[in-house]
Amino acid sequence: MASTGTEKTLFKRIIDGEIPCDKVYEDEDVLAFRDIDPKAPVHVLVIPKQEVASIADVADDVLAGKVMRAAARIARELGLEENGYRLVTNVGDHGGQSVFHWHVHLLGGRQLQWPPG
Ligand code: 5GP
Repeated sequence: MASTGTEKTLFKRIIDGEIPCDKVYEDEDVLAFRDIDPKAPVHVLVIPKQEVASIADVADDVLAGKVMRAAARIARELGLEENGYRLVTNVGDHGGQSVFHWHVHLLGGRQLQWPPG
C-alpha cells in the first residue's frame, strides 16, 4: 500500500527495527535484506537508510552510488557474479512500485527473462 507521506513506510519500519527482516548486509547508509516474496532463488532488497520515495527523488549522487555499489558487492558475496544477475528499481505506478522507499531488487540464481512483463 502506498504511504500517505505522513506515516512510516514499511521499509522505514524495517530500518527502525519495528519489523524483522532477514538481513544480508548493513552499513552506515545502506541496509539489504531478503524479499519476503522472492521472485528468484536470490532476491534481496537493497535500500538507503535515508528516507527517499524512489530513485526519481534521490538528489544525492553519492547515496545513489553507495546503494548500487553495495548491491553489486552483495551479488559478488552471494556468488552471483559468475552467472550474472539483475538489479531493478521500480518507479511509480507503471513501474510496479509498491513500497515508496527507494529500493533496488537484486535478482539472481536462475536465467531471467527479458523484457520483463
Ligand atoms: P516494489 O514492488 O515496490 O518494487 O517492491 C517491494 C518489494 O517488497 C516486493 O518485492 C515485496 O515482496 C517486498 N516486501 C513487501 N513486504 C515485505 C516485508 O514485510 N518484508 C520484506 N522483506 N519484503 C517485503
